[in-house]
Amino acid sequence: MARKPVVKLDCPTCKKPVESRDADFPFCSERCRLIDLGKWASGAYVISSPTRDVSDSVPDSRQTTSDEE
Ligand SMILES: [Zn+2]
Repeated sequence: MARKPVVKLDCPTCKKPVESRDADFPFCSERCRLIDLGKWASGAYVISSPTRDVSDSVPDSRQTTSDEE
């Protein structure tokens, strides 16, 4: 029988040590898992949007030389 080694990690939410055999691994509890998911939902992790090329389509004002007589 090969025994599975127990991995210990810190809960990403509350930094509490969690073992890999825990049902909510790597979180210590479902609550912490939901909190972490909530971070994604609330936009804590912002996915950087590609910078839009802002090209001003404003025609440059041409200096119309008025006819002077
Ligand atoms: Zn936790």
